[in-house]
Amino acid sequence: MRTTVGIIGAGPAGLLLARLLHDAGIDSVVLESHDREYVEHRQRAGILEQGTADVLRAAGAGVRLDKEGLRHDGIELRYERRRHRVDFPGLTGGRSVTVYAQTEVCKDLIALQLADGGPLLFEAEALAVEGVEGERPRVRFRHAGAEDVLECSYVVGCDGFWGIARQAVPPEVSRTFERAYPFAWLGILADVPPSHDELVYARHDRGFALLSMRSPSVSRLYLQVPAGTDADDWTDDEIWDELDRRLETDDGWTLRRGPITQKSVTPMRSYVHEPMRHGRLFLAGDAAHIVPPTGAKGLNLAVGDVVTLARALAHEKETGSPELLDTYSADCLHRIWQAERFSYDMTTMLHRAPDADPFDSRLQLARLERIAGSRAASAELAEGYTGFSY
Ligand SMILES: Cc1cc2nc3c(=O)[nH]c(=O)nc-3n(C[C@H](O)[C@H](O)[C@H](O)COP(=O)(O)OP(=O)(O)OC[C@H]3O[C@@H](n4cnc5c(N)ncnc54)[C@H](O)[C@@H]3O)c2cc1C
Repeated sequence: MRTTVGIIGAGPAGLLLARLLHDAGIDSVVLESHDREYVEHRQRAGILEQGTADVLRAAGAGVRLDKEGLRHDGIELRYERRRHRVDFPGLTGGRSVTVYAQTEVCKDLIALQLADGGPLLFEAEALAVEGVEGERPRVRFRHAGAEDVLECSYVVGCDGFWGIARQAVPPEVSRTFERAYPFAWLGILADVPPSHDELVYARHDRGFALLSMRSPSVSRLYLQVPAGTDADDWTDDEIWDELDRRLETDDGWTLRRGPITQKSVTPMRSYVHEPMRHGRLFLAGDAAHIVPPTGAKGLNLAVGDVVTLARALAHEKETGSPELLDTYSADCLHRIWQAERFSYDMTTMLHRAPDADPFDSRLQLARLERIAGSRAASAELAEGYTGFSY
């Protein structure tokens, strides 16, 4: 099998890259180790920055997004039983975000790809990437019980944090930067209308809580829990009681409860692999970097990477110049480190570390008071949340 761009992974990064390359007249093959059902139902991110929504629309994946996505013009910060709204358009010159689940983004992109794109092979597991320092890199993969080889001009590792593509970068070239947090998020999906029309980020002495939503009838809520927690350690009533405690306010706000349809625990990690290119191998999305979900950046960073890469590959096709491919890693890392900083700041401002002392708590409250009291500090948060340009 032969193609111009071999893409490993059909998450948002791989699927969107295939679409952008199709639009630029560049052929590709996508290899995905799981089946379609799994990829379309894996619960993950849900907040699209304005730039991400614009890219999906331009790629032809905006019809359902525009019909079903919920535009949000702000978030609420909650602390000491008080509420403070951060108004995005007013602080950023008109920017907002859209609530539209990653599962739906993937469904839309898969439908487009299967309709008129290049091959998208499910249950095709990449085993190794070889020859990336030469002209003809290859991906060895297993599909339908047999081993095969995909010969490419370029290979793109869009295979997430646990993928294999990164292993093709020699250790003497790789540099990694990592922070593992001593807490995780217990997330639930519940069949109940959201109790607030915007996301609520709550800092509490018992730990962080987040109220968000997937649709007008489905709530998505999270609780900070110790790292290593098993979701089944918590009964449904215990989860609702703890959410009540952490989200409670003095003004009579109440949390609506409903049947919990899914429970899972997400570990919290910051991670960057540099460089994001080695020879003819490029890394994009979670394969190259992870952020804790507090800043809602993971999916948006993946989109930013593949937009940058598709532009560079199209430029090379049109002009013969590899100049944008040569700057791909540096161009992405500049944006990624801003998102790493933002996600770290949000995480440390809102979560309670196991060894936190009263001084740490007072500092967190001072950071929140600063945002509530300063237009400049609010604008910094609003700019970071609605997205860095790419
Ligand atoms: C449990 C969880 C919850 C999250 N929640 C949020 C959130 O609330 N907000 C937020 O902003 N972000 C969240 N994220 C992060 C966000 O979902 C990711 O940043 C986003 O999915 C990145 O997209 P990607 O395409 O780079 O990687 P992925 O979505 O991880 O896609 C990688 C794909 O590669 C495939 N693959 C892996 N190895 C191979 C192989 N060897 N061969 C072929 N295919 C392979 C995988 O099956 C997968 O489909 C969450 C992540 C996780 C893991």
